[in-house]
Amino acid sequence: MNQGPKLSKRRFLLLTGSVLLLAGCQSENKAIAKEQRPEVIHPNDACHLCGMTIQNFPGPKGQLYERGNNKCLKFCCTRDMFAYWLDPEHRHNIQGAFVHDMSKTHWQKPSDQLYIDARRAIYVVGHNRKGALGPTLASFSNRDASHEFMKNFGGEVYIFSEISEHLI
Ligand code: ZN
Repeated sequence: MNQGPKLSKRRFLLLTGSVLLLAGCQSENKAIAKEQRPEVIHPNDACHLCGMTIQNFPGPKGQLYERGNNKCLKFCCTRDMFAYWLDPEHRHNIQGAFVHDMSKTHWQKPSDQLYIDARRAIYVVGHNRKGALGPTLASFSNRDASHEFMKNFGGEVYIFSEISEHLI
């Protein structure tokens, strides 16, 4: 009979323990997420997917970080970034994700300073400007710029959640 309170006290301690543990992991994860920022593309940086030298190509680049990891994965184009990201093996393990904002930078040589959160970007798919490996996704911070681009170069506008493997 009098074991009841003891048991619930133990359970309470177990619960608080796991909550604290969880909070600890989350704050560590948040600290890492803070350090996950777009990096400068160096002359020898190779695409994490195809291995080609990133700086040799025009068009928007992509950068990804895996959960709890500060190693920046750089991609020669947004297409290769999505091909990696949408792979079922990686899909749920991507934390930080960045693409160039093509409403503010040049297609031929996008600026290292002009990246945006890939999940908030608007994409034009199926246009006729060339990326590293032919067709790529043009990424924009705002809808007006994406529509302007679509008028000039064709394609269709998509938001991040609409990007799927069959578009890539
Ligand atoms: Zn590549």
